[in-house]
Amino acid sequence: MKLKIEDNVVQALKHGLSYELYKALLLSYGKRGEKAFFYVKERRVKKYRDFFVVVGREEYLVDDFFCTCKDFQLRLKGRKPCAHILALFIAKKLKAYDEFDTYYIDFLIPND
Ligand SMILES: [Zn+2]
Repeated sequence: MKLKIEDNVVQALKHGLSYELYKALLLSYGKRGEKAFFYVKERRVKKYRDFFVVVGREEYLVDDFFCTCKDFQLRLKGRKPCAHILALFIAKKLKAYDEFDTYYIDFLIPND
């Protein structure tokens, strides 16, 4: 199941990373939308060979309908997009992410 992104956000994307987009995100998603805008603006969306990662307070593994953050899993219960999923959606549409030719999984060191 793909998470629906509000139409006004999709519409505003044609203006790029603009005030229109910021406003649409804020109106539709409140603080989460605002955060998503700045994640993209600050180039915190990273594409590795295996995963997309959004750098928030921690680094989160994100795809179109899943995020490893607590906000998405506990508060939103996987039903609505968190700031990271929104950021990924925007970053993909605007091609506004940094790309790394490495596997993110290689950086994940098990702590046992
Ligand atoms: Zn998240």
